[in-house]
Amino acid sequence: MSEPEQSPTESISAELRIGSENLRFSVEITNEPVHIHDLLPFFQRITDKVVEIGVKEAEQQGKCISCKKGCGACCSQLVPVSRAEGYKLLNLIESMPAERQQVIRKRFAQNIKALKDAGVLQLMEQAVSNNDRMQLREVGINYFRLNLPCPFLEDQSCSIHQDRPLSCREFLVTSDPVHCADTNPETVESLSLPKRITPIIYRMSRDLNEAGRGYLPLIQILESAEALSSNQASEPAIDLIKQFLQNLTHN
Ligand code: SF4
Repeated sequence: MSEPEQSPTESISAELRIGSENLRFSVEITNEPVHIHDLLPFFQRITDKVVEIGVKEAEQQGKCISCKKGCGACCSQLVPVSRAEGYKLLNLIESMPAERQQVIRKRFAQNIKALKDAGVLQLMEQAVSNNDRMQLREVGINYFRLNLPCPFLEDQSCSIHQDRPLSCREFLVTSDPVHCADTNPETVESLSLPKRITPIIYRMSRDLNEAGRGYLPLIQILESAEALSSNQASEPAIDLIKQFLQNLTHN
């Protein structure tokens, strides 16, 4: 029996200045066209490295990260995810055993109902559609006040830690954790990062899809399944990585 044909791959290595550090990486990519969601493991790796640099810089300024395992106070926030991540999370849910899927789907449905009943769902959709920072901020506060834990939160920990969204990876706080459950965002100091990866991926997700914004609230991924699975444009992996690096170095 002949071996299945392997698509040719290419290795890219780069060194970028991010904040006060040099970030070195290398990635093995196929020469075939790929979807942006195929590159998520790479984007997650870069996000984690940028966050590491942010943490080091904060520590040099005498700050310390108050986020600890078992504290999920921030997991009741409105979490944005890129369309690419939304698609991957949908696949993740669909790959779960039926019973587990049922639990997760039920939590999504309960949160959507609560948002609808409180009149927040419509405001959230408007804010996302307008991509209006002030509206998003206001709706984010209303969302948090409803105290709706993320469907993936289990015993105050993320049950999909390895696959958690980029926005969750980027969000760490340096203020006293006592404020994390406070609905007044002024009391919470979030970690300042030398670069943010999320806006880059939202933009790339938007540019590769004809319909809508490049991001959506995590809580709406199940009801957006059809839209997330359609308009799946693909491009050579090398072009997507180049676009990403250009955005990373120019923003
Ligand atoms: S995905 Fe995980 S880290 Fe993000 S809000 Fe949900 S439980 Fe929290």
